[in-house]
Amino acid sequence: MKQFLPAAAAVALQITACLAEELLPVQIRAPTVAHFSDIVANNTLDFGCRPIAHPTSDGKFQLQALLTRDQISWLHGEYSSDESITIQETVLSKRQTSGQAPIGTGDRFSGGSVAPSGLGTKASGTTIASILNVNEINSAITGLANAYPGAFFKYNLPYTTFQGRTAVAAYTGAGSDTSKYRLYLSAGMHARERGGPDNLIYWVSDLLAANKSGSGLTYGSKSYTNAQVKSVLNAGIVLFPLVNPDGVVYDQSSGSLWRKNRNTRSGTSGSSIGVDLNRNFNFLWNFRKYFSSSVSPASTSPSSEAFYGTAAESEQETKNHVSVYDKFPGIRWFMDIHSAAGTILYSWGDDVNQSTDPKQNFLNATYDGKRGVTGDSTYKEYIPSADATAIKRAADATVASMRAVGSRDYISQQSVGLYPTSGASDDYAFSRFWAKPGVNKVYGFTMEFGYATNFYPTITEFNRNILDTNAGFMEWALTAISVGLQ
Ligand SMILES: [Zn+2]
Repeated sequence: MKQFLPAAAAVALQITACLAEELLPVQIRAPTVAHFSDIVANNTLDFGCRPIAHPTSDGKFQLQALLTRDQISWLHGEYSSDESITIQETVLSKRQTSGQAPIGTGDRFSGGSVAPSGLGTKASGTTIASILNVNEINSAITGLANAYPGAFFKYNLPYTTFQGRTAVAAYTGAGSDTSKYRLYLSAGMHARERGGPDNLIYWVSDLLAANKSGSGLTYGSKSYTNAQVKSVLNAGIVLFPLVNPDGVVYDQSSGSLWRKNRNTRSGTSGSSIGVDLNRNFNFLWNFRKYFSSSVSPASTSPSSEAFYGTAAESEQETKNHVSVYDKFPGIRWFMDIHSAAGTILYSWGDDVNQSTDPKQNFLNATYDGKRGVTGDSTYKEYIPSADATAIKRAADATVASMRAVGSRDYISQQSVGLYPTSGASDDYAFSRFWAKPGVNKVYGFTMEFGYATNFYPTITEFNRNILDTNAGFMEWALTAISVGLQ
């Protein structure tokens, strides 16, 4: 394949991306993942949460991207001589601009005097009419605290956001002793991934309601018993439903597919605003030191969607996320909720896993400058084989339950996929055990719910996403309990 993007073209594309508002979902198909290497290496293009090539039913691979019309034209030109590669703008592009699920107006929970109620405790076919706005996400949490006193605890996180907002988390199921909590789920890190906070809030609402009434839960064709509900609650659940409130306020008001936070210290206009929180965690953050120069697991450019910030944990939102591990030192399993790819991702995300050479690990300076090339044998990330088995089992079980709901397919994948990432929340969770002596081992996962690159679901998709994810959370938690919480 020809060299994909000369430097001059990269600069031109970046300028185009700043001027053009609209990003369209594009699917690129090729016979091998290697066909995508040059495109992925160009970090002015937007591949969603992270670039991952999915196998397709006809034995090919598909890469999702969000591109401007100019970028799409350029891509067609670049690939015009290679018939094995197809580039498709699908009907998804229409969904982004029309038929989107509305954002709630006002406050359906009346400041917390009304508690949210999920779909798993309702008759089949019941739907929720709109996506929660930022105020409603907070009043939903207050509503649960009011409805379940002594069983659901709300608290403010210690760092206010760049725009001065207070982030809110909660814990439920294991009483007031914060050392007894084993499961941690967060959402709303990437602002445009609509419905993430909703999925988490409605699931926990279901657990509490079913526990109280003595009933089970039903998500499409997948059901859980009351005993399973009680078992999951007893594991102790910490929820941080809206990690990036500044970003979500902006995305919901602008409809601009905004991803990052709204920090203006590195850039004050357009796409130069904001840090990608999911490249800001303290895991191989300084990627230019740790990774091969041939890969770009994050970006040093403020205008990139993957801008890593000014230091590891430079962002208030990242600090809030990490503070949860200090308050709940018994956390053993973590899931970060993103969209939209239809995948469950498990560790590691910096390179391909191996369980034979413990020396090849993220802390070993011998391998600095060598990580992240997924096709080579120079470096692969060490994972103890028992851990590899446990996390794969949990990811596979989660996927199986999401498929069983009956809406659509999901797959589990190692998060490195085609391409590495640095500073991501799931790798950070898993890395803590080795990087910080004395802390608990945490298995970290990312759930990518929804249809590929369709960050703004229709109302039908929004409701399907709630069913799919809620069954997935149940199965993930039950598998965690089965594998072990200590
Ligand atoms: Zn994301």
